[in-house]
Amino acid sequence: PVRVRFAPSPTGHLHVGGARTALFNWLHARKHNGLFMLRIEDTDLSRSTRENEESLLRDLRWLGLDWDYGPEDVINGNCPEELKKIGPLRQSERGFIYKKYVEKLHSEGFVYPCFCSEEELERQRIELERNGQTPKYAGTCRHLTPAEVERQMANGAPHVYRFKVPKNTKIVLHDIVRGDVVWDAEATFGDFIVMRSNGVPVYNFCVAIDDALMEISTVIRAEEHLTNTVRQILVLNALGFQLPSYAHCSLILGEDRTKLSKRHGATSVNQFRSEGYLPEALINYLALLGWHDGTEQEFYSREELTKAFSLTRLSKAPAIFDIGKLRWMNARYLRSLPIEKLRAVVSERLKLANLLYPHVDSSDLLVEMIAEVTRDNVELASDYECQVKRIFSYPLEETVRSGEAVELLTKEGGFHELSKAIVHSFREGTFPSGESENHRALWKEWIKRVSKETKRKGKHLFHPVRLALTGKMSGPDVGDVIRILSLAKGKSDAIVLLEQRIS
Ligand code: GLU
Repeated sequence: PVRVRFAPSPTGHLHVGGARTALFNWLHARKHNGLFMLRIEDTDLSRSTRENEESLLRDLRWLGLDWDYGPEDVINGNCPEELKKIGPLRQSERGFIYKKYVEKLHSEGFVYPCFCSEEELERQRIELERNGQTPKYAGTCRHLTPAEVERQMANGAPHVYRFKVPKNTKIVLHDIVRGDVVWDAEATFGDFIVMRSNGVPVYNFCVAIDDALMEISTVIRAEEHLTNTVRQILVLNALGFQLPSYAHCSLILGEDRTKLSKRHGATSVNQFRSEGYLPEALINYLALLGWHDGTEQEFYSREELTKAFSLTRLSKAPAIFDIGKLRWMNARYLRSLPIEKLRAVVSERLKLANLLYPHVDSSDLLVEMIAEVTRDNVELASDYECQVKRIFSYPLEETVRSGEAVELLTKEGGFHELSKAIVHSFREGTFPSGESENHRALWKEWIKRVSKETKRKGKHLFHPVRLALTGKMSGPDVGDVIRILSLAKGKSDAIVLLEQRIS
């Protein structure tokens, strides 16, 4: 059965790379009706925090990457019987498990206690570096006699446990993405620590034990973990566990081909969220970072992705993170949202920006109007804020100053007559109110009436009406703008405002 895990370290926010790893794991699990588990790798106690963990979980939920078994399930007790034996999914809570396996490895001779002091190790390192060799542990304590070990232990000497890296052994890793990767373990690293002197186990050791006990079928993670994999395989082999298969995904680079980092702009999921990207768009885009199904298709629903996804189509070459393309995709997703969803997105953004008037009971209609009117001018959900600010603004002076309206103001005989007609319709109550269902028809009638009264037609009518009422030469349909204004402020306040504008 397919069982995968996403194993973030809660030392920061969820970034693009991590989100992609999570997505590939999730897709693989969902495609094969397997299990997707979430494990929190918080062995680095100084850098791991509960806040970071919570923010990781929140971002994964926002992306819709739901897990079948995660850190809170043990506490909630909603963990299936067959998984209970795995135990807690936070590494900091699994110390008792790791300890047991260190003891087992020790009794079977795969690990040994090492009493070398920091100073001693430092001296060795400097010496090796001076001779141009790879700094690695010289293996001093590997050769201690049992009597010597016993003496040190009896003295309570501080010690770590180190793994005996076998001599002359090649580790062959059959990687789904990279093919066979061969490592000479001994040449790459010395006997590595599995447990520190304070009893805290070391990262690579925990990962190996956890993957085995969780019966992970495939480890899907970033390429930078390759050398960790070799150590993990050594531990798994020593304990006689079956190896999972591995898929190491390519790196994600910025457009300048250096490793993606903060220098390249937003890289964390919560930044994308607050900048107004939709989770669907982000998921779609992330899926294409290092995976393709061999067709030209670029837009995939979650279901389509699940169906099309295959680990064998992950690419070895690094993926380039192209923010322009993500933006473009997001715009497409925003535009194709069904109106109820769009309404929710717009209203969330406007509330965040304090642009919605809570006392207006027609706010659903208002949001819908805004969404409809601005639809083609937004790429990010946050663009709604500027669009709405623009709709509410009245930059007449600026428009006049920029010269755009000069012709209108000079050649069309000014606004006097027109303003009079408009104000007249306010007084008479014939100015179309925003609440009405057939607002657009009423607006047309009104324009006709103004046309008659002022003897203006076509652009000689529409352009000055637009300029007078909105202060701009372009923008959404003026009738729609008026409707939005009256829905937002209430009809009478809107008219007072317009009257002020015109006079
Ligand atoms: N905790 C590791 C990280 O955040 C992931 C290790 C793994 O997937 O095995 O990079």
